[in-house]
Amino acid sequence: MTKSYIATPRRTTEILRTYHFTFKKSLGQNFIIDVNILKKMIEHAHIDKETGVIEVGPGIGSLTEQLAIYANKVVAFEIDDRLLPILNETLADYDNVAIIHADILKVDLNSVIEEHFADLKIIQLVSNLPYYITTPILMHILQTAPAIEKMTVMLQKEVAERMNAKPNTKDYGSLSIAVQYYTETKIVMDVPKTVFIPQPNVTSSVLVLKRREKPLVQVDDEALFFRVVKASFAHRRKTIRNNLFSHFKKTIAKEHLLQALKRAEIDESLRAEALTIEQFARLANEIGKFVSENT
Ligand code: SAM
Repeated sequence: MTKSYIATPRRTTEILRTYHFTFKKSLGQNFIIDVNILKKMIEHAHIDKETGVIEVGPGIGSLTEQLAIYANKVVAFEIDDRLLPILNETLADYDNVAIIHADILKVDLNSVIEEHFADLKIIQLVSNLPYYITTPILMHILQTAPAIEKMTVMLQKEVAERMNAKPNTKDYGSLSIAVQYYTETKIVMDVPKTVFIPQPNVTSSVLVLKRREKPLVQVDDEALFFRVVKASFAHRRKTIRNNLFSHFKKTIAKEHLLQALKRAEIDESLRAEALTIEQFARLANEIGKFVSENT
């Protein structure tokens, strides 16, 4: 008898029962039991036999199995050691999968890429992310692993909307800017709770993030740019001027901040949500001219 895919209610329940597996909510463990959703996700990623894939959190291997079928090679990082013997069995038929027991946030992705994907030109990340650390994972990848050119991830719908948001919307904020600075984003589908076991409390979405060849805007000092963005959104209902005044009160004079806003051609009475990423870049570059070593 041929085995069915892992991502089916029957096979998943069977695996969970055989290993007496109990879910750890603290690790964001919600497994997919609908193979069509995974196939659609892979279609949106455009994975083929030339592609090397990094996966975060294989669980019992539902998505990993589908990736192994379509990709050249899959390297998957799983933090929960109870899942390792399970994965060893569920993925035994696939010789193009490597499972690494590690916390993705502590992994040096560049050396992994060098070791496992040296002969491949296209490297992507595909993952049904553990929702409790969605943002740190994506920022870790964006900031430390430039070779990963595309990310296709399942995440909380609300977070996907914030990452994808445009100015003058309620979802637009520092997260939208941090993500869009590095990537072009697109929400490609919503995923109902019913395709997971156990069911999460929230609806999910699949977000595709395509890395830009270079960041969207040119900034003189990246750390200061992100700091200015964060400070500007600290109190959403306050004007950009007042948010900057409070953040820099000990280090930059008000008149200098007003001068920076003027030179950047930004109306000081606007709220941060009205500003484009280009405007934030101009503003940070102008503020940078007043920043002293000890700011
Ligand atoms: N890929 C499986 C699926 O789609 O059914 C499971 C996805 S589940 C939402 C998230 C997985 O990430 C779990 O297996 C969990 O143990 C794992 N995980 C949680 N935190 C992690 C971390 N810091 N590093 C690596 N894996 C992690």
